[in-house]
Amino acid sequence: MEYVRSSKARPPLPEGPFLVVGLARSGVAAAKALKALDQAVFGVDSGEPEGLDVLRESGIGFETSVSGTDRLEGVATVIKSPGVPESAEVIAEASRRGVTVIGELELGWRMFEAPVVAITGTNGKTTTTELTAHLFRSAGRPVSAAGNVGHPVCEVAMEAAAGHEVGTVVCECSSFQLEDSTEFSPEVAVFLNLGPDHLDRHGNLDSYREAKLKVFANQGDGDVAVLNVDDPAVATIETAAAQIRFSTAGSDRAQITLEGERIMVDGEALIETSEMQVIGRHNVANAMAGAASALALGLGLEEVAAGLRSFPPVAHRYEPVAEIEGVVFINDSKATNVDATLAALGSSDRPLHLILGGSVKGEPFDGLAGPVAEHCRGVYLIGETADEIGRALEPAGIEIVRYCEDLEAAVSEAAGAAVPGEAVLLSPACASFDQFKNYEDRGDSFRRLVEELDV
Ligand code: ADP
Repeated sequence: MEYVRSSKARPPLPEGPFLVVGLARSGVAAAKALKALDQAVFGVDSGEPEGLDVLRESGIGFETSVSGTDRLEGVATVIKSPGVPESAEVIAEASRRGVTVIGELELGWRMFEAPVVAITGTNGKTTTTELTAHLFRSAGRPVSAAGNVGHPVCEVAMEAAAGHEVGTVVCECSSFQLEDSTEFSPEVAVFLNLGPDHLDRHGNLDSYREAKLKVFANQGDGDVAVLNVDDPAVATIETAAAQIRFSTAGSDRAQITLEGERIMVDGEALIETSEMQVIGRHNVANAMAGAASALALGLGLEEVAAGLRSFPPVAHRYEPVAEIEGVVFINDSKATNVDATLAALGSSDRPLHLILGGSVKGEPFDGLAGPVAEHCRGVYLIGETADEIGRALEPAGIEIVRYCEDLEAAVSEAAGAAVPGEAVLLSPACASFDQFKNYEDRGDSFRRLVEELDV
């Protein structure tokens, strides 16, 4: 196993004055962190986000429901929030004027000095971020989970500035954050997998992959790249950093592998997968990625194994919520794309009753037919995409196919059809915005409906 040498000196902050574009949590954190450094900063948002009182209280000027182009005068650097597309008028105009544009991740990273584990991929980022942070925490090492997990890197920077020990910063990095980074250089960078998601913003798979590959761009030979060699799009990545490769599928190119159901590290036993609380093959991959990162930063095998044992399932991510009369109910509401649902199907050893469907994202569903035929006895279709998925699944010849009005009807029909030894799985392959506030709301509804079955 390779060990990371040290945390790195950071490049200086870019020049102010700053304009923060997008005032959701990370934009607000960026503005506050800049203000705390006495920088001139102003914020804009094209909508009306909530929770901006903190800006007022910090004496930071802002304007909402505006494109923001009028505020570019005199600005030297734009901080672009991950939710803001490249095509936004203010970003295009800033680029035209030669104004520096960077993301909140790049800014925050420049503001503290601590080793960083950056985790990217299409699916599994949140799980792997929480799991990796848990490994450090349970070994008694200071750690901060940051990034897309609801704790922007700029907040970590402010905590560090206030004298808190932030420890190792384990950071979930979306393609949007990476796209807007320039010198970001994590000590450990993890690439979990790559599938077609967010193509609405990135245009095509190549540019989505390019954005994610930026996680390795500034690494050097004292750093570590953790790669899932089971994914063909990841296996071929070349890095300046030393590589730790993992495989759940028996690749002989990996240092972290499965022997039967035992995770092995360089030929030494780490843990039996049955000792972990998270279930499913994809979570074995996430555990391998977390273990690689922790080992690279000096944790021992025993410490890592203990942490893997005590890590609880993450809500809405292939989370078992109940077993009722021999039927297991699994909440995988976070499966908002086809690849995540395929991972769930590949992880299930019981015949499934699968609830699919939600809002339209433009991703084709044809890839579902084969695996659904292999694993499912019933499918229950909900939401805007129900008809489209139904058509894509016709070749699968599933025993039970039901078009359901809503999640309640789907849970009720699936529970009615399932027999002991089977499972009901909510893994919709779609976002939730047609019928729910977000995937958490959908998963919470599923849990509640299942609990109501149990009375
Ligand atoms: P992200 O933060 O990348 O969206 P999450 O950890 O929130 O990832 O999980 C998103 C969905 O992907 C969930 O349905 C989860 O069960 C599934 N998933 C988790 N890990 C993996 C993996 N390694 N490969 C494929 N799917 C995964």
